[in-house]
Order: sequence, then structure tokens, then C-alpha cells
Amino acid sequence: IKRRGGDGVELPTMIAMADVSERLRLEADLRLALDRGEFELHYQPKFSLAGGTPELIGSEALLRWNHPERGLIPPAAFISVAEETGLIVPIGDWVLREALAAVKRWNAAADDAGPRPSVAVNLSFKQFDRPDFFEFVRDTLQEAKVDARLLELELTESIVMRNADSTVDVLRRLRALGVRLSIDDFGTGYSSLNLLKRLPVQCLKIDRSFMRDVTVSDEDAAIATAILGLAHTLGLEVVAEGVETEAQLLFLRARNCDAVQGYLLGRPMPETTFRSALDEAARR
Ligand code: C2E
Ligand code: CA
Ligand code: CA
Ligand code: CA
Repeated sequence: IKRRGGDGVELPTMIAMADVSERLRLEADLRLALDRGEFELHYQPKFSLAGGTPELIGSEALLRWNHPERGLIPPAAFISVAEETGLIVPIGDWVLREALAAVKRWNAAADDAGPRPSVAVNLSFKQFDRPDFFEFVRDTLQEAKVDARLLELELTESIVMRNADSTVDVLRRLRALGVRLSIDDFGTGYSSLNLLKRLPVQCLKIDRSFMRDVTVSDEDAAIATAILGLAHTLGLEVVAEGVETEAQLLFLRARNCDAVQGYLLGRPMPETTFRSALDEAARR
């Protein structure tokens, strides 16, 4: 049934129009936000399970938009528009620079003997469309004077599936620099096992959606166990995201999961708070 809006325009069309103007506004706002410095990064701590107690080894940088009126806006509200408009490229450039500046600060404070906290940065497929992506990362590392081994890049399966050959080439060059590469949201996309074999990645991140019911659903437990087994057989590390309970942590520990992130051990936090957590971990 087609209902009609006030002036004879069909309702779905009106909704679509509202959508378009909403998007145009968001696009303009995002541009301004970049110019005005309204983006910020929060850091979610990552913990190694190699020892007896979880050990803080680094963080994942997560983008936030600190809007003057609407407050802190999560990435889900603007990343897709930023990707459609291409704005994710300059935003992504900012994210990499900012994350490297932060990891530099953390490691200036840490003494040489102590652990060296790393930072992981999320990438969008759009950033791989630029032909100079490798050079951009290399030069940004150089300008920031950061050891490439302290940077991890998180790729989604879709990035790798699109344009596999040229992407694999870029990834190999990044890997040769010492940058760590991981596949994000593993299990939610369409990566073939064959591609996994060809990719120069070191780590798989098990998506949060498998973690949620891992201690109550036999299927989710089987999937998580299989991912851990597969990854370890291929010599890859595994990070589990979305760990919220002790039971999930126990499950992962029993299967030799290498590292975890989640609300149980630490939420994404502003840099100052993350630095306090690093300081506290160093004292222990
Ligand atoms: P992601 O890469 O899968 O990041 C994990 C998301 O799960 C984050 O949401 C994080 O805050 C949330 N999370 C972490 N632990 C838990 C937990 O225990 N329980 C629950 N319920 N959630 C948890 P966030 O920060 O809203 O980011 C959403 C997505 O936005 C990210 O998913 C990533 O795909 C994208 N994103 C974030 N920052 C960037 C960025 O700088 N660039 C790009 N291209 N994408 C980004
Ligand atoms: Ca991620
Ligand atoms: Ca995820
Ligand atoms: Ca993701």
C-alpha cells in the first residue's frame, strides 16, 4: 500500500529525501569537525594471557567525535557516511598521526627494560584505494619517530577480499617495515582459508558476536574453539574482543587464546586515563 505525503510525494520518497539531506548535513559537519579538531581517540587496553594474570600490553585506538552540542558520538554513527564521501581518508590520516603521537608519549615514559605498549589502528577499505597508502604509513612512522613494531593495523576481511592482489602487495611491504597486521572481526566476513594462508598477517581478532554466548551456546563455543585451533595451526596469534565475564575469560584461557579485550578488563578510555593504567601496570 502506498501512502501519500502532504503534497502528493510518496512517503518512501519523502523519507529518502530526508535521509539525503540528513546525510548532506552530516557530511558538512564531518568536514568541519576535522578542521576544528573535534575528533579524539579513546584507547581500549589489550591484555596478554601468556602469564598467570592478564598483562597490559597495548591498546586499540577507537575514534570518537566530540560534538560541541551532542557530546561524544560513537563511530557507528558516522563511519559509513565518512566512507561513502571519502572523508574517511583524511580522518584516517588524522587517526594514524594521533595514535602514533600517543604511542610515542607512552614509550617515552616507559623505561627501556619495561614492556613497550603498542597501539592498534582500524583501517577502512577506502584507505587502500589510495595508491600511496604504504608510503603514507612509512612516512608517518618516520615523522613520528615511532618503531614500526609498536604499530598494529587492523584490517577487515572485506578490505582483503576487495582487490586481493594489490592489497596483499601493500600488506607485504608494511610487514617488511615491521608493522603488525591483524584481521579484525574474524569470522563475520567471507575470507577464504586460502587467502588467509597468503596474507602476511600475524593475528586474528575473534569478533565480539562469537564471544557473547560462547559460554552458553555450543555452536559459538565450537566456532571460537575452531578459530583458535586454525589460527594456532597456522602460527597466528588470536585476540578475543568483547570479553565481559570471568567465564568467557576462563573459556579463552583454557584454549590458549593469546590476548583479550573487553569491558571485563578495560573499556575504551581517554589517553590520560590509559596512561594512568600503564603507570599502574608498570608499578606491579
Ligand atoms: P571494532 O574494531 O570491532 O571495535 C570494537 C568495538 O567493540 C568498539 O566499539 C569497542 O568500544 C567495543 N567493545 C570493546 N569491548 C567491548 C565489550 O566487552 N562489550 C561490548 N559490548 N563492546 C565492546 P566502538 O568504539 O563503538 O567502535 C565501533 C567500530 O567502529 C569498530 O569496531 C571499528 O570497526 C570502527 N572504528 C572505530 N575507530 C575507527 C577508526 O579510527 N577508523 C575506522 N575506519 N574505523 C573505526
Ligand atoms: Ca578493531
Ligand atoms: Ca568487532
Ligand atoms: Ca571492525
